[in-house]
Amino acid sequence: MSATSKATAKKITPLKHGFSDALITWYKQNKRDLPWRHTSDPYALWLSEIMLQQTQVNTVIDYYHRFLNTFPTITDLAKADEDKVLKLWEGLGYYSRCRNLHKSAKIIVDQHNGVFPNTFDDVLALPGIGRSTAGAILTFAFAQRQPILDGNVKRDWARLFNYHEDIATKPAETQFWAWSQQFIDECSDPYAFNQGIMELGATICLPKQPRCLVCPVNSFCDSFKAKTQHDLPVKKKKVPVPHYDIAVGVIWNKKKETVFIQKRPDEGLLGGLWEFPGGKQEKNEALEDTVAREIKEELGITVRVDEKIMHVKHAYSHFKITLHAYHCQYIKGKAVPKAATAIKWVALNDLSTFAFPKANKKVLDMLLDAKN
Ligand code: SF4
Repeated sequence: MSATSKATAKKITPLKHGFSDALITWYKQNKRDLPWRHTSDPYALWLSEIMLQQTQVNTVIDYYHRFLNTFPTITDLAKADEDKVLKLWEGLGYYSRCRNLHKSAKIIVDQHNGVFPNTFDDVLALPGIGRSTAGAILTFAFAQRQPILDGNVKRDWARLFNYHEDIATKPAETQFWAWSQQFIDECSDPYAFNQGIMELGATICLPKQPRCLVCPVNSFCDSFKAKTQHDLPVKKKKVPVPHYDIAVGVIWNKKKETVFIQKRPDEGLLGGLWEFPGGKQEKNEALEDTVAREIKEELGITVRVDEKIMHVKHAYSHFKITLHAYHCQYIKGKAVPKAATAIKWVALNDLSTFAFPKANKKVLDMLLDAKN
C-alpha cells in the first residue's frame, strides 16, 4: 500500500485497520484541555471552529471567551451592532469570518428561531461555513458521523498514505475526503476520531518537524516507513508575494481636537473596519504626495501633509505592505467619500472604540502613547 496519484479515490487497505482505535485511545489520554472541548453548545463550537481557521489555538482562547461573554447567545450576536462585533474581532484578522458569523446569526434567528440547525444542508447554507466546518460542528455538537478535512488533516493523510501529489488539486481533495469518510464510517467514536485527527496534526504530525518517534500511529504510517515524511505534503511552489507602500494621513481638524476616520466597504479585504485614509504609492511618487493625492481623490478634501508618525510592516495572505502614516492638517473641502461607507471626525481618546486593521491600530497606539 503506497502513494496514489489517480483521480479515483483509493480505499483504506487492511493495513490501516486499527488506526482509528489507536488514534482515539491516544486522543482520550493526551488531548489538550481547550475550552471548546467542555461544551456541546453548537454556537460555542461554531465560534471556535471559525476562530481557529488560520489562527493559532493560543491566540484564539482569549478572543473566544471575550466573544461569548459579550454575546452569550446567537440572538445576542444577531442583535449586535456590526462595529461592536468587529471590535471584538480586532487583531484576529481575516475579518470576513467575523462578518459571516454575524450574518449567519441573523439568518439563524430569522429562519431557525435562533436555534443552530442540525442538518448538514442547513449548516452548509450558512455564510462562512464550508464542508469541513459543517462536519466538525455536527460531529462535536450533535454527535453525528461527519467527515472533516482541514489543513492539519490533509497533512496527516498525505503522510499516513505517503501521498506524493500536489495536495491543492481536485484529485487530492477527492482522495482525502474519501479517506476522511471511510475512517469516520468505521470508527467507534466519531467525536474523538475527528478531534484526534486534528490534534495529531496540531501536536505530533507538525508541518516542519513531525514527531514520528512519539507518534501514536507511526506503525500505520507509510511515509514513516518510507522515510519520506519530511518531503510531504507536496504543495505547488508559491508565487512571490508582492509588496506595496501605502501612505495614510491622520487628518486633524483645524482646532486639533478630532481626527478623521473612514469605514471600509463591507465586502472585500478588511471589510467593515475603520481606517485612516490614504492609498498605494505610485511609481516615482513621494510618500507625502501619495497621502495628499489619495485624500483628494477619495474624499475631495485638501490637506497639508506634516511630519511622519511611523511606518509599520504587515503581511496579508497574498501581499505585504509597509504602511507609512503622516500627521495632516485639514485645509478645505467637504468630505464626500467615493468608496468608504461612513466617515467620522473623532476625538483621539474615542478612537479606540472603533475596530481598526492591525497596521492602523499600531498607528493609533503610537498616537495615544504620544499623547499620554
Ligand atoms: Fe506524521 Fe510521523 Fe506520525 Fe507519520 S509517523 S503520522 S509522519 S508524525
